Amino acid sequence: MNLQERMKHVENRIQQACDRSGRERGEIRIVAVTKYVSLEATREAAQAGLLHIGENRWQDAQAKWEAIGGQASWHFLGHLQTNKVKEVVGRFHYIHSLDRLSLAKELHKKAEAIDTAVNCFIQVNVSGEESKYGLSPEELSAFAEQCAQYDRLNLIGLMTMAPYEAEPEATRPVFAGLRKLRDELNASGILKQPMLELSMGMSNDYEVAVEEGATWLRLGTILVGKEEG
Ligand SMILES: *Cc1c(COP(=O)(O)O)cnc(C)c1O
Repeated sequence: MNLQERMKHVENRIQQACDRSGRERGEIRIVAVTKYVSLEATREAAQAGLLHIGENRWQDAQAKWEAIGGQASWHFLGHLQTNKVKEVVGRFHYIHSLDRLSLAKELHKKAEAIDTAVNCFIQVNVSGEESKYGLSPEELSAFAEQCAQYDRLNLIGLMTMAPYEAEPEATRPVFAGLRKLRDELNASGILKQPMLELSMGMSNDYEVAVEEGATWLRLGTILVGKEEG
């Protein structure tokens, strides 16, 4: 399939998942994850109207950002090392992987220095897999409360990664769990403003994520493809 065909395929599936769950297509946005593809393929995606681009390492994203930075909004998805924050703030509009206070502090500091703000998703390890980054559900509310001191961070939502499952249906409790955590946090009154966003769903499981309330899907392989090497 070429890009246009993949976009159409994904679009149909999202629409069907919306229909099954009584959601509006307009509630859901797509981050096109370009970490597996070249600059040329990334440019093609932006020109095709995929205006949110996701990368998970600054080293890999840099050349793309320098070439086509102005053509899209940029999303940082992966584990963010504190020493990379200075590269990311001011270039990436969204950070999906806020997972520790030292990172919150550094993001705030760098954002303040250039008089900007950063949209952040707090990453939660809902499944409890050892290999995954993110706060445990138990740590979430205290963390969110502590982040409130950093006024350059817009806490817009929660992010999670489900374990890879041969049967995507098996991811449902993870996505439902993230939605519940968001709703509980909003009801708790801890936050100055409610968090509306849920960044969840990847190539293997995005249809289930839509049914469970995702507002941002992070789609790599199924949408922009995966190049060898
Ligand atoms: C790579 C990656 C994705 C996209 O993965 P696909 O399965 O190719 O869609 C989404 N989110 C994060 C955090 C990633 O690292």
